[in-house]
Amino acid sequence: MPILAAHNLFKTYQLGKTHVPVLRGVSLSIEEGERVAILGRSGSGKSTLLHLLAGLDTPDAGHDSHIAFDGRTLASRSGRELDDYRTRSVGLVFQFYHLFPELPVLENVLIASMIGKSRIAWTTSRQALRSRATALLEQVGLGHRLHHRPVELSGGERQRVAIARALMNEPRILLADEPTGNLDRQTGSSILDLLDGVQAQTKQTMVIVTHDPATAARADRTVRLADGIVVESLDSTPTSPTGSHG
Ligand code: ADP
Ligand code: MG
Repeated sequence: MPILAAHNLFKTYQLGKTHVPVLRGVSLSIEEGERVAILGRSGSGKSTLLHLLAGLDTPDAGHDSHIAFDGRTLASRSGRELDDYRTRSVGLVFQFYHLFPELPVLENVLIASMIGKSRIAWTTSRQALRSRATALLEQVGLGHRLHHRPVELSGGERQRVAIARALMNEPRILLADEPTGNLDRQTGSSILDLLDGVQAQTKQTMVIVTHDPATAARADRTVRLADGIVVESLDSTPTSPTGSHG
């Protein structure tokens, strides 16, 4: 069973009297441990799709559309279960980091674990959670920046904080929307290396949205989106051995 499956998703935005059809029947299925890239030009509906997968928005009614996580549709979940899905099952990384500017790095990561927890549950686990947040920040190379504020960090460092935050609740799926879109190529590449490292270590299921074919090529599989539909789904071909045998 796929960990995440989307069936026939439609999404049309309404701008005054104009309908803007963005998704026109998107289906896709992601296996546990897979690293999938969703590739498409700007405006092709990638962020819209990712928001639907993350449970942050809902597809248009009708069309027999649904999104199922672990075999259960999001539509069948209660409000509390959906909150749980958004904050614990899924970890989100955005192009512009979305950190709290007034909070130190450590608190930015820790805050993910506070959401939806009772005060008592939070207080009793606080020490363990601080240790986990610290370990994650060390893992992303920011062990020496725990008490800095985001404004004191470079773009690449801010994205590292955002990745640590996204991993804080041990999400079953990491969803990243253009995680290198605001970074120069070299910094972006180091962020992708970091995600590769996480994947190699924990077999983290990842969905990475990008307009950049080189970024997509690093995934196990690329789903290409154009005009609101999936136009192809390709496994990354393993590099064939060059030269002669033996
Ligand atoms: P991508 O992430 O691939 O660049 P988006 O999913 O952000 O594409 O947007 C797809 C299209 O939907 C774009 O034409 C965009 O202008 C439009 N769009 C996105 N969000 C909204 C919205 N809230 N209201 C109206 N149109 C929107
Ligand atoms: Mg986008």
